[in-house]
Amino acid sequence: MARRRVRKKIYIAYTGGTIGMKQTPKGYVPEKGFLEKQLAALSLFASPDLPEVHIHEYEPLLDSANMTPREWIRIASDIEAHYDDYDGFVVLHGTDTMAYTASALSFMFEHLGKSVILTGAQIPLMELRSDARENLIGALFIAANFQIPEVCLYFGGKLLRGNRAVKVSASGFDAFESPNYPPLATAGVQIEANWSYILPKPKGKFRVKPLEAARIGVLTLFPGILPEVVQNFFRAPIEGVVLKTYGVGNAPDSDDALMEVFQEAVKRGIFIVNVSQCLEGRVEMERYRGGQRLREAGVLSGYDMTTEAALAKLFYLLGNRTNPPSRIKKLIEQNLRGELTRA
Ligand code: ASP
Repeated sequence: MARRRVRKKIYIAYTGGTIGMKQTPKGYVPEKGFLEKQLAALSLFASPDLPEVHIHEYEPLLDSANMTPREWIRIASDIEAHYDDYDGFVVLHGTDTMAYTASALSFMFEHLGKSVILTGAQIPLMELRSDARENLIGALFIAANFQIPEVCLYFGGKLLRGNRAVKVSASGFDAFESPNYPPLATAGVQIEANWSYILPKPKGKFRVKPLEAARIGVLTLFPGILPEVVQNFFRAPIEGVVLKTYGVGNAPDSDDALMEVFQEAVKRGIFIVNVSQCLEGRVEMERYRGGQRLREAGVLSGYDMTTEAALAKLFYLLGNRTNPPSRIKKLIEQNLRGELTRA
């Protein structure tokens, strides 16, 4: 007698985003119960090829521009509460800050042994040319059938490591890339996983290390930036800064006043992480005098981290002050969740 295949169970955390939005005179807005109604009308989940799903709709549903570390913690705790009862997790989320949430979750989750896949859409599910259907089906299918123990982002046929992803297009269906890391899987006629780039399944017990509010900023260098403006930016109560520099981590080496501002900030205990303004490539502070001067001032290297990952990492490390500053500095430059590659 043929054995019946046991359908996998996937938990969907629906936080908001364009995927479930409705066109109104005030623009696109999410509406309570609307996405589930649309999905029911499509009867997608009746397909035996898809897992059994449970949808948890958040209240309120958010445009992801409204996400804060509080919402990241809420998503992490929700997944923690249901971790043992499901085979995998899909988080429906707006695209605007999806890469930030994916990065933050990756740091908060310790010993993650199941897939957590964030997805969304550029066009709402209710519209004819929507990309929601393909994104949702792909994410569910991968979460159920591939045991990728990572926080991932699925969009436009690519499964990316969450803390390597960046939103690169406001209009294309291929809205996300991970410029410094290959996709973990690609969906063509077949879905192919890139196992050699996927993290191994951890041995420890899954747990969530929640973040706490930290005073963090992102500062982009530009030609003509004034030291006094930067000095103001570094005023208390700021604790950590992602510094977006030129190319391989370069800064104006001839601007002594600016370099002094950085040095003085580091002396006051502010953690400064150097990431490149370029999407692709890595910080190598030894390459130019400007980078060397930043290093001498005590600026840390973010290597090939995305701005989103560097920011989330600072929230994780500074919002959880269990470590002394020397340890925090080490951890910033260390690979914790596959977010950076050194050399
Ligand atoms: N503004 C929307 C959001 O991030 C965009 C989207 O979902 O694509 O929530």
